[in-house]
Amino acid sequence: MADESTSSDTIVAVATPPGRGGIGILRCSGPAVKNIAAALTGSLPAPRFAHYTSFRDPAGILLDQGIVLYFPAPASYTGEDVLELQGHGGTAVLQQLQTAAIAAGARPARPGEFTERAFLNNKLDLLQAEATADLIESASATAARSALRSLQGVFSTQISELQNRLTDIRVSLEGWLDFPDEEIDAVSQDKLNAGLLTLQTELLALLDQAKQGRLLRDGIDVVIVGAPNVGKSSLINRLAGYAAAIVTEIPGTTRDPIHASCLLEGLQVEITDTAGLRDSDDVIEQEGIRRARAALEQADIIVQVFTDTALADAGTGPLTTPRINVRNKIDLTATAPYREVQDSTNMVIGLSALTGAGLELLVDSIKQLAGFRAAGEATFIARERHITALATAHEHIGVAQAALIEKHNLELIAEELRLAQHEFATLTGEFTADDLLGEIFSRFCIGK
Ligand code: GDP
Repeated sequence: MADESTSSDTIVAVATPPGRGGIGILRCSGPAVKNIAAALTGSLPAPRFAHYTSFRDPAGILLDQGIVLYFPAPASYTGEDVLELQGHGGTAVLQQLQTAAIAAGARPARPGEFTERAFLNNKLDLLQAEATADLIESASATAARSALRSLQGVFSTQISELQNRLTDIRVSLEGWLDFPDEEIDAVSQDKLNAGLLTLQTELLALLDQAKQGRLLRDGIDVVIVGAPNVGKSSLINRLAGYAAAIVTEIPGTTRDPIHASCLLEGLQVEITDTAGLRDSDDVIEQEGIRRARAALEQADIIVQVFTDTALADAGTGPLTTPRINVRNKIDLTATAPYREVQDSTNMVIGLSALTGAGLELLVDSIKQLAGFRAAGEATFIARERHITALATAHEHIGVAQAALIEKHNLELIAEELRLAQHEFATLTGEFTADDLLGEIFSRFCIGK
């Protein structure tokens, strides 16, 4: 992470979404903000006061009237001088304001550049910066609450607690490294061991929470497969709660995989209804089948639908993917809904897509197989890269633990702990490769 704080150039962007709206906001950050304020509004407004004023272009032509807000560095979102012009939310108005700001010394901002500057100026760490984007993108209230908790630093605080614990252990280990000829005594070894054990326990608990946070952010992909006419479209419609798929009695008309998304008690589920996987000479149907197979490879959970009392053939899709075999149309045989758990990743559910009987068993099983706990208490939001970093840190500490027990070289233990520490630092952005930063911020929207 760069330490140099203020940037030499000034950025500008329309911070409100494109289109028409009651209010449109233009935001600028950087050293030219004072000039821009003077050029567009005729004066530099008092810090943090709302002023109603005219906005003019460099030729003095009136563009709009609205509110101007000035936040001098460092007490601003980016840590730099920031100016906000709140005008009328029309594309032409905002475009003209932006052109006027550019004429007064700004350049258009890249996506996420305001937040990137906030990060570079230590206004927030990388976990919080990512949470900002995740809050904006949140698809459910639970995800939004969790993103807000990350933004407030809940995740970062837990990481820094682990970092402190690890630093203490490393400091005591370094003491021994200064005397390479001495064997570490039994009491010290026990102490180190106990320290590492506690660290690992806390790390695992955090990893578990982070996995919930990732589920909240990314949701899961469920793919529905089965022979034509078994009721796949009816089931997806039931799940999605609206008619996303065409329900028909003619086999093979659902040629393209159909996607629907729904929220199952806070868990965002993308459902793909595949074309019936059968041999076909129809070119269009063959393409549908190819796409269905591709979706199956990516699925987090496969729901295989059948109607006989015989078990469905488990051969469709990767066998390691958690699977729910749904026996549909139980209404035809007057059977009550049921669930048989075969093992931790396989179950059979009897239900009726027509009447909806047994649907709650399916919803519950999807949540269970996804590892999603009832989201009553908001956790924090997390991303795949966070899970990977935490898991890698856990591995390094595990190697260190084993080495300590086997009385291996203390240097080796110290090195593993250093690597674990590095993983924590990549989370908060203390050490993060520039290309990763670029990748993270480029996914933000313009003006954030
Ligand atoms: P798909 O080809 O697998 O997508 O099957 P559809 O959802 O299009 O359903 C095929 C036919 O079975 C339609 O006539 C549905 O109304 C009917 N069907 C679907 N589910 C049920 C069910 O649970 N009970 C009964 N009795 N009929 C069903």
